[in-house]
Parts: sequence; structure tokens; C-alpha cells
Amino acid sequence: MKYCKQCIMPTSRPGIHLNEEGVCGGCLGFKEKKEEIDWELRRKQLDAILDSYRGKGDYDCLIPVSGGKDSTWQVYSMLQRGMKPLAITIRCQYRTELGKKNLDNLINLGVDHIDFTVNPQVDSEFMLESFKKMGNPSLVEHMIMWSTIIKTALRYDIKLIVWAENSALEYGGSKKDRNKFNMDYDWIKKYGVTNGTFAEDWVSDNLPLNKLQSYTMPEEQVLNQAGIENLFLGMYMEWEPEDIAKKSQSVGFEWAENPVLGLHPFVGVDCDFRVVHHFMKWYKFGLTKLWDNLAIEIREGRMTRKEAAEYLRDTTEAIPYKEIKTFCSYLKISGDEFFDIAESHRNLDIWKKDKKNNWYLPEFKNEFGFWKEFLI
Ligand SMILES: [Zn+2]
Repeated sequence: MKYCKQCIMPTSRPGIHLNEEGVCGGCLGFKEKKEEIDWELRRKQLDAILDSYRGKGDYDCLIPVSGGKDSTWQVYSMLQRGMKPLAITIRCQYRTELGKKNLDNLINLGVDHIDFTVNPQVDSEFMLESFKKMGNPSLVEHMIMWSTIIKTALRYDIKLIVWAENSALEYGGSKKDRNKFNMDYDWIKKYGVTNGTFAEDWVSDNLPLNKLQSYTMPEEQVLNQAGIENLFLGMYMEWEPEDIAKKSQSVGFEWAENPVLGLHPFVGVDCDFRVVHHFMKWYKFGLTKLWDNLAIEIREGRMTRKEAAEYLRDTTEAIPYKEIKTFCSYLKISGDEFFDIAESHRNLDIWKKDKKNNWYLPEFKNEFGFWKEFLI
């Protein structure tokens, strides 16, 4: 494991690439966004694309929405440009009160909306299986999202799906992936939070294919033949989390009173499971949401790398027991089982035990000169 020389991102984070100078794709992508990309031109390109889809069917585009800051801005941006969107939510099993309020606000901006709920019996069984095998609490949630959104576009004959940011550009993918304007299956494999798997890879005696049908993707060829475009809006307009959160706030999106995750009170506010997903990154990659947030603070010039390290040194995060309890009740497992599974996914390539038998990240200590308990 190495750390980016400019920010604090470790190479243990999936999809992260360092160049010859030791700079991560997230920092390079940020530089490209600030210095190389002509946003005015991109905006014109977006207008031309939207023109080609407007007024062709019942709906001009499909927008996947959770009710969070990104989806609020996706919907508002499309309405502003005279598009008639259909919005669709894959219902989070534990939608928060604030999540519900924000989703209502988004619908009231003026869109038709589908709230899709997956069979919780199959879902919890599948989720437990994937949590045990991959330590990923969000794999199933993402799989149902990719499949349902794409199938809905096919069923409603909607030719344009408007996604938010290209996470390869925002969080450090390769140059090729940072320049993807449209999502494809190769991108989903790498950045789609499904550990490179599709539903067919999970077929077993307990989970036969007919149980998993809601999670399967149509053949990519079918999608191409139907002429469906999967557009990343973040490739056509700047997509900085805090900026988007403020813009969304101006059209009614509410922030939490205090941060649920990391630095900002606008992240992870819509669903408890999101918090557990981020918590598991500690075991698997040796980082929390704070790492993502601080990397952006450094890139934006609001903090130096040294100040970010000091912030980590002086900050302790709480283990999200409340959210873990909710997750356990959905999976029908005990807290002890949860932590046993979590522990079984501790990445032993990066974690070692010190003389007192406590876990620590030797590379972190080498890089920043200290270690402490980050999560209590
Ligand atoms: Zn970096």
C-alpha cells in the first residue's frame, strides 16, 4: 500500500491508480476538471445531446434518484433544460425520515416517479450471502439498481438515462475511465460496487437463477440495439460534492443537523445501510469517508496535506452501532456475527498487529508518522 503524494488516498482503495510521480487519479482528475476541460463547450455538447432526445416519447429521459444531493440536482438540471424525466428510486430498505422528505421534495420539483421495492426475503438472503463472501453490504443494492434502471429504460422505451458523476473521474480511476462520457458494463464491473460480479455469478442452491431474476442485467448488446445512452451528467457540468449539495439545498434538499458520515452533513443522509457500507471500508481498505472528504479538501486548496493528516490525528469517529443494528435485523444476524464477518474481511496485506496486539496500518504510520485508534 502506498499513499498519493498530493492527497492522502491509499492504493488500497479500489480503482485507485498512482502515476509515475506517485499522484493518484483523483488528484489528476481534479486537475483535468480545473485546467483542461472546457466546461462551456461541454455544456453546449450536453444541450445538443438533450435536443436529440427531447419530445421523442412519453419521457425524454430516465433519472435514477435516491433523494440525495446528486439526484436532486440531476432532476433540477433536466427540468431547467426543458426535459420531461421519469425518475426512479430503488427503495432503500431503511429509508430515513430525512431521506423520505428529500425524495418528496425532489418529486415535487415536477416529475413522475417510480418507487421500486425489491422482495425483502430474497434481498436479505442475497445480501447476507454477499456480505459473508465479499464483506460488501451494498453489493446487492447496487446490483438491483443497475439492473432495474436499465430494464426500466427498455420497458418504457426511454433512450436516455441521466446518471450523476463518473466516479472514476471524481475518485481516482484510470485515464481511460476518467474520460468515459457514458456508462457501460465494463465500467459497472470496475466502479459499480458489485466486486466485478453480476447476478449470474451468485447462483447457488439457495439462490437459484429464478430467485435472482430481478438482479440480472439484459445483454449489453440488447441495450446497444435499443439505442440507450447512459450519460454521466458530471462529465458535462462540474460535480463537486459540496457545490452540488449547496445548489440542491437552494431547491429544497435538506442537510442533516450533523454529519452522518465524514465531514459533511449532506452525505449518507437517506439510508442507514450506506453508513454500514462505508464502515466496512475500514477493514477492507484502511480508510473511512473522512479520507475521501479530506482528499477533496486538499485538492480544492482548503487544506494542506499536513493539515489533513493533523485532522485525522485529532479526530476519532464513532462506530455506527445504530446503523449496524438495523442492518443486522434485516439480515437476521446478531451483532457478534456481524463483527465476526467484518473481521474476516480485514485485509491482512495492509493491517498488522502491534506489540500490544492491536491492529494498525504500518504504511499509514510510515507515511504520516503516527497511529491511533480512529474508530471507537
Ligand atoms: Zn491524490
